[in-house]
Amino acid sequence: MHEFTAEVEALAHEVLAYSLDRLKNDPPLDGPRTSEDLFAEVGNTITARGLGGHQALEVFTSVLAKACISSDHPRNLAFIPSAPSEYANLFDLVVGASALYGGSWQEGAGAVFAENQALRWLSDLAGLPESAGGVFVQGGTVGNLSALVVARAEARKKHPDATRWAIACSQESHSSIVVAANIMDVDVLKISTATDGKLMGSAVAQAIDELHATTSKRVCAIVATSGTTNLGIIDDLKGIGSAAHERGIWFHVDGAYGLAALCAPSVRSHFDGIEAADSFIVDPHKWLFAPYDACALIYREPELARAVHSQHASYLDTLKDGAWSPSDYAIHLTRRTRGLPFWFSLAAHGTDAYTEAMEHTITVAQAAADLVRAHPNLELVCEPELSIVAFTRKGWGAKDYHNWSDQLLADQVGFIPPSSHNGETILRFAIVNPWTKISDIEMIVDRL
Ligand SMILES: *Cc1c(COP(=O)(O)O)cnc(C)c1O
Repeated sequence: MHEFTAEVEALAHEVLAYSLDRLKNDPPLDGPRTSEDLFAEVGNTITARGLGGHQALEVFTSVLAKACISSDHPRNLAFIPSAPSEYANLFDLVVGASALYGGSWQEGAGAVFAENQALRWLSDLAGLPESAGGVFVQGGTVGNLSALVVARAEARKKHPDATRWAIACSQESHSSIVVAANIMDVDVLKISTATDGKLMGSAVAQAIDELHATTSKRVCAIVATSGTTNLGIIDDLKGIGSAAHERGIWFHVDGAYGLAALCAPSVRSHFDGIEAADSFIVDPHKWLFAPYDACALIYREPELARAVHSQHASYLDTLKDGAWSPSDYAIHLTRRTRGLPFWFSLAAHGTDAYTEAMEHTITVAQAAADLVRAHPNLELVCEPELSIVAFTRKGWGAKDYHNWSDQLLADQVGFIPPSSHNGETILRFAIVNPWTKISDIEMIVDRL
């Protein structure tokens, strides 16, 4: 019934050989090309008769793949890169070959069971109760939106007369919070941080009390960030959680990048207060060595999320049997079992290996900060709290930073685009890759 021809088998060997080669060797950095340039080289790849597997693979491996920057290159320190473990990447091949449906327990029980154990590890690290649970969604943006929609539903129950809702967060919070507010048609109450960039519980309490006293708006959720994407700053989770719960408001923690370090004892105390979260997110595709795309979204009381997100239709009602269906906990229905590569790597290596890899990246970040401190031309923007090292170059304007960064990529040394802080151009190293060595940082710093 299954027609696996010699041609398909030959292609399978080619695909596996390419994948093995990519996993075994240092990844190339590579870089973007224009659409016109790519078209000039490969033309229109969609044809009536098809290119054939061999040729289509060739187009990808020899041209298209090289026009993509490898996020796992040890000197790709841009934005928040990604460094999937070999095991996680290998298991992604298995997921691809398995036609797993991750939306319902009925169809994907074994896969969902495994994903839930990986979610349990994160939930336990955060100190949430046994009843907590959630789902892997595409990314932090969808995770934040899904949680905030549940938060508003809860607020509506408590305050049926409210005329307008607001989400409270810091001025440093991630752009996805504003996007979520726009989609939800709610306002954003941006609260100033202390001078060190941390949002404090006292500032949150004051800003919300003032809003409630002077307008008919009500805050439906407070978002704390741990840590911020630009500088890795962790908000005052304890104080913000108390401010939220004293006022009966949902407490969401956006830890897309930083909460990965819950498994690192050296920084665990920075996250004190996370145990009071009503919901939180962390992206295994950022700093937990998993491939794109996977965000762990966890609720203290998942049944509240199910009541909001569960889809009802005649053809779906057979699935409403009380079993745990991942579709019920976020804005999605059909879903890839995207948590499985993370689960496999975690199950195979054990959690101690995660702690070790995490501590290693933090140590390299500390050493990178030392190099910056010792450099006559460089100045730290702030002391790194996690694994982001942000700094300025004395005497440089925005153009100098951009030219330097462009040249770094053109020379295939590294990928470090400039960012900004308080209106000033800065550079930052986001170190999430256990293969990034201090000699890699030296190589970059030497060019400054
Ligand atoms: C990256 C990030 C997000 C968005 O996550 P995506 O997976 O890119 O959608 C949200 N919040 C913070 C703090 C982040 O660092």
